[in-house]
Amino acid sequence: MSHYSAFSVFKNAISGNRHWSRVWRDPEPKPHYDVVIIGAGGHGLATAYYLAREHGIRNVAVIEKGWLGGGNTGRNTTIVRSNYMMPGNTMFYERSMKLWENLSQDLNYNVMISQRGQYNLCHSPSQMDAARRRGNVLSGNGIEAELFDRSEVKRRLPYLDYTPQARFPIHGAIFQSRAGTARHDAVAWGYARAADQQGVDIIQQCEVTGYIWDKGKIAGVETTRGAIRAGKVGMAVAGHTGHLAGMAGLRLPIETHVLQAYVTEPLKPLVDTVISFGAAHFYVSQSDKGGLVLGGDLDGYNSYAQRGGLPMVEHTLASAKALMPSISRLKLLRHWAGVMDMSMDGSPIIAKTPVDGLYLNGGWCYGGFKATPASGWCFAWTIAKDQPHEDNAEFTLNRFERGYQIDEKGVGPHPNAH
Ligand SMILES: Cc1cc2nc3c(=O)[nH]c(=O)nc-3n(C[C@H](O)[C@H](O)[C@H](O)COP(=O)(O)OP(=O)(O)OC[C@H]3O[C@@H](n4cnc5c(N)ncnc54)[C@H](O)[C@@H]3O)c2cc1C
Repeated sequence: MSHYSAFSVFKNAISGNRHWSRVWRDPEPKPHYDVVIIGAGGHGLATAYYLAREHGIRNVAVIEKGWLGGGNTGRNTTIVRSNYMMPGNTMFYERSMKLWENLSQDLNYNVMISQRGQYNLCHSPSQMDAARRRGNVLSGNGIEAELFDRSEVKRRLPYLDYTPQARFPIHGAIFQSRAGTARHDAVAWGYARAADQQGVDIIQQCEVTGYIWDKGKIAGVETTRGAIRAGKVGMAVAGHTGHLAGMAGLRLPIETHVLQAYVTEPLKPLVDTVISFGAAHFYVSQSDKGGLVLGGDLDGYNSYAQRGGLPMVEHTLASAKALMPSISRLKLLRHWAGVMDMSMDGSPIIAKTPVDGLYLNGGWCYGGFKATPASGWCFAWTIAKDQPHEDNAEFTLNRFERGYQIDEKGVGPHPNAH
């Protein structure tokens, strides 16, 4: 596998770009692996990469029913940030941010991290109080956060609605300058390439249909390409978590919901940051191609369909217009959806399950893309050492039995509100 460098770009350019080697292999499944990871999204691929690189466990397969990165990893709105307030979340997401900051060099693959900053707008005095509290928690943990009043927000983001008629007046914002975006499919491809280089087998077009059991322990997976035995099985299947866990007899506090993303026709550079509306679940950034990338709320019903409904398109665009009336004549070019694994407190699970041999990574709700590096890093640790790292120690499954939920938004068990 070639190392990407300025020299390799030059060398391949002068030979017509005909001699690049394949970015990853397409191996046949072996009968046995030390670890099988189900799901070649960012989380599954990152887990395999860190299992090999950090723990020397290289006899690993990642099993994917479709194509790698074709799930939520390739469908999200690419926001990365680490401004979480609850113990359990704060340092986990900061680990992720630190991994993001070096990821392109680490993987020798440009994941196009763009630390353009993110504003969370506040539309009432009480939201300003909550932002102040969040900022203090972040600062106390060594994570940078700035609080801006209305006039500073207006100076920085002049294209928002500050008129007296604004439906949701802007009181100020909390800002994280290290937040931003990364190129989602490049993240999947970068981890896939780096894992493959470490000897990991990535097996696409191979659906896990059941488990192999041996004396009450999971000892592998049944797939559409035959049985594959494994010492340990980890699942990182996002919206299919309930289904795959159900096959192992586990009932999880996770629901599957549809979430859409939207892109407008291209504009000249306008939004050079990420802006999250505080009055509804809505955020906006601008892609390199110029389209405004909009994110909104869940569609509001459980589904495994990777397509969204028009009522949520209308709702999201109403939020966009309330915030930025000047874009009201823009055309929406595309919208699509992913299936989300919504946990009942809005925080994830990275843990051993009560089923011997089975490990769970899921419940990422709206926030799993930004978590990708730390999720893989911590899941690999948990699988390799049979115990959590301190950064995922709170992401247990049994916290729901014990009543120790990590309810970042303080909204209770309502998936649409997380
Ligand atoms: C519209 C949208 C916008 C989002 N925006 C953001 C954002 O801005 N920032 C952020 O942090 N997060 C965001 N997210 C959330 C984020 O995308 C996900 O949490 C994250 O990508 C999950 O990654 P994953 O690897 O766990 O899952 P996925 O990428 O979905 O990968 C799971 C894989 O498992 C495979 N699989 C499922 N069942 C089986 C089976 N039986 N056998 C084999 N393979 C199987 C699937 O085909 C899939 O490829 C968004 C999500 C959506 C849908």
